[in-house]
Amino acid sequence: MEDYRVRSVYLWSLWIMVVPLSFAIVYRISPPTDLDFGYLAAFAVFAVLLTLFPLSMNGNNIFIIQWATLAVFLKYGLFVEMIVIQAAVLLVTFRTKSTRPFYFRIPFNSLMFLATSVIAGAVFFSLGGQIGSDSLLHILIYGTAYQLVYFLVNHLILCADNKVNDGEWRFVSVEAVWDFVIMLLILPFTLVLYLVELHIGVAAIYLLGLPFVVASFFLRKYSDSERINRDLKKATEIGHQLAGRMTSVEVIELFMVKVAELLSIDFVYVVDYRRSTAELVILRQLEDSRFIEKDFTRLARHEGIAGRVMLTNKPVIYGKKEEWAEVAAGQMAPSAQSVMALPIVRNSITEGVLIVGARKKNLFADHQLQILEMLTSYFAVSLEKADLVQKAIAKSERCGLTKLYNYRYLEDSLEKLMNKVNSGELEQLSLMMMDIDFFKSINDRYGHQSGNDILVRVARLIEEEVGDEGVIARYGGEEFVVVLPGYGKAITMLLGETLRERIENFDFEIQSDLDEGRTLQKVKITMSIGVSSAPEDSDDAMSLIRNADRALYIGAKQAGRNKVAGYSKS
Ligand code: GH3
Ligand code: MG
Ligand code: MG
Repeated sequence: MEDYRVRSVYLWSLWIMVVPLSFAIVYRISPPTDLDFGYLAAFAVFAVLLTLFPLSMNGNNIFIIQWATLAVFLKYGLFVEMIVIQAAVLLVTFRTKSTRPFYFRIPFNSLMFLATSVIAGAVFFSLGGQIGSDSLLHILIYGTAYQLVYFLVNHLILCADNKVNDGEWRFVSVEAVWDFVIMLLILPFTLVLYLVELHIGVAAIYLLGLPFVVASFFLRKYSDSERINRDLKKATEIGHQLAGRMTSVEVIELFMVKVAELLSIDFVYVVDYRRSTAELVILRQLEDSRFIEKDFTRLARHEGIAGRVMLTNKPVIYGKKEEWAEVAAGQMAPSAQSVMALPIVRNSITEGVLIVGARKKNLFADHQLQILEMLTSYFAVSLEKADLVQKAIAKSERCGLTKLYNYRYLEDSLEKLMNKVNSGELEQLSLMMMDIDFFKSINDRYGHQSGNDILVRVARLIEEEVGDEGVIARYGGEEFVVVLPGYGKAITMLLGETLRERIENFDFEIQSDLDEGRTLQKVKITMSIGVSSAPEDSDDAMSLIRNADRALYIGAKQAGRNKVAGYSKS
């Protein structure tokens, strides 16, 4: 910003020294002759219309004021052309989006077009061009020469400006080629406009120009609404797809990939706000259609681009890197230019921030933001839904008290594992059935609540011993089952023995609800365990459970409890 202020001071100083003087000199050298103010006004109106309804291509405006200005030049000479072009440029400057401030762009554009007009005019005259000629050949040759020089000078100034700003000299670019092609396409029209005007006067503008302006206006409306319609349709489709995903990971990944596709962008980041620590954490990063893992430091709530969005709860749009470089905390891809970020809101609470970026400059407009806002709300709802689905599944699979798997889940997974054993995919499989000894008396002495506390504690002890090796389930009241894929009977009995000892030696702390003082009490319990294995003892799930149960009651309980017993067929 500071940079533009300083530079605009130079530019305005230059403007004051150069522009009025240039007009005076040009007036002296080549004063306008036969000025017809009615015609001039008609041309001026035409130029204004051309700037108000520019052609639209891919959302970019194309201004073709040369159509009016070249005709003005050929008819009235340089001085009038300079006036018309300066006025038109002022209008166009206001009509175009730019990241540069107006106080910089106005003198810049004015000086650029002054130079262009003067140089093109000088070339025209020095080649022998005549103002007001009615010879077709003359107009064809000198008009074309004038327009080519005009284009070249204008383009060179823009290249030089780009070199100063980005350090890059790009004489040939896609945009420049387009500009050139459009200039060539318009050239015959502008020459015809001049020639027809010579013969039929101001009506030429209506005949030639007006249909074009009207067509341009409707085409533009049409192409804008086409684009918005198309994007809206796609966004709705994406919304449906999101709603079909059942886990939050799937929802997040689909959302990011689709957003990148829809907006043709290079970078997508989903930032999660962790309320408990007031930190912003990058949840997932998509760069050039690939999910990447990069370690980032966590940010405080107000830091970075995401922090700005969190603080204001409003979206931000940046056209190029300079605008966000100061705010960003080093998380954006270094090659990004255009950046758009908006809050992810769920139940009117901001849960995080979506940041999208592209290498192209000035890519994002309000229309994309609106589409993205809509998609983001689909996203938030789908995430919530996926969460609820997962919770519901977890609930029906798990025991509410101990959070271990329930009987139903156990049956399913045992069935699957048994199939693997039978198909040879899994070599062996063992099952431990456990029952707490004299648990009824624990309840009787300390109360049911204390009994529950002990059950929860036992569940955690089993988890600690078994780890990821097996599936742990609460089988019934104070009975637990562990299914151990890949485990033979001997090693399972060893594991059972470790667990039995752990329980025996563990001090269960309870706060008896039958005790008036509600002091912490230490309680000892023991557990009996029965083990059976597949394929040696059985080849179906139900008999594997039955055999373990039998080993538990006959081999452990009846043999005095606090024991581990293996099933034996005899
Ligand atoms: P043993 O198994 O050694 O033969 O004796 P036990 O006292 O444990 O006998 P049994 O297995 O027949 O009794 C189970 C008792 O466990 C009955 C009930 O009081 C208690 N129980 C079952 N489910 C729960 C529960 O969810 N919470 C609590 N606190 N107690 C339970
Ligand atoms: Mg029991
Ligand atoms: Mg028992």
